[in-house]
Amino acid sequence: MLSIKNLHAALEDNTPILRGVNLEVKPGEVHAIMGPNGAGKSTLSKVISGHPAYHVTSGEVLLQNKNILDLDIAERANAGIFISMQYPIEIPGVNNIEFLRMALDSKRAFQGLEKISDSEFQKILSQARDLLEMDNRYLERGVNEGFSGGEKKRNEILQMAILQPKIAFLDETDSGLDIDALRIVSKGINALRNAERGIILVTHYKRLLDYVKPDYIHVLRKGKIVLSGNSELAEELEAKGYDWIPGDEA
Ligand code: ADP
Ligand code: MG
Repeated sequence: MLSIKNLHAALEDNTPILRGVNLEVKPGEVHAIMGPNGAGKSTLSKVISGHPAYHVTSGEVLLQNKNILDLDIAERANAGIFISMQYPIEIPGVNNIEFLRMALDSKRAFQGLEKISDSEFQKILSQARDLLEMDNRYLERGVNEGFSGGEKKRNEILQMAILQPKIAFLDETDSGLDIDALRIVSKGINALRNAERGIILVTHYKRLLDYVKPDYIHVLRKGKIVLSGNSELAEELEAKGYDWIPGDEA
């Protein structure tokens, strides 16, 4: 589904951040990426999404065997890439429901479909809202406007539920969540897990991975994946940290 090959990426001023990332996510798989602060986890999500602050210096990112690095941000999203941001932004004045509907219609137009009907949209919106246990009043506000940290993260997964991406890259979706919000967000992610979709979860905490059990866990350090394992690796990392792992010589 998503194939990242020897990906190197740098800032405008050519400071390298990603230094040869390799990752294969097959349909149906959930991969967790862990690793210390500043390792490049968020940068990886932004490079995949096409964020203009970074440029790819070598390597490939393929979505269903098609190179996406030539596509702009909107085209990548429409092709099925979804990024949940570590720090979701507030967009006051842009109504949340209108935002969701326009995003969905944009994707449908890309797929050659006509605009979604009122009744169909209401149906998927209410299903997503129920899944994320979100009140209508959040939907009627500006995007994330005045939302708490946990509400923003729930709103991100709501967007994912509406857009039904092929690949979802969820960057610290569990950070700052209270226990109820963590349960709701995890339930949302699990409900969106299916045989046609790949999910990448960035997290610092094993507790998310207790709810959403990953098929693989990777450790990213200094812009490279230095260790991969199965879901049991989370326990070892929680006990031992990252310093014992070799393999990030600059
Ligand atoms: P992580 O998400 O793993 O904590 P990031 O990908 O956010 O790490 O950052 C990796 C490194 O790249 C950090 O040292 C960070 O300061 C730097 N970095 C990332 N984006 C930028 C940027 N736009 N400008 C300057 N430095 C950046
Ligand atoms: Mg980050």
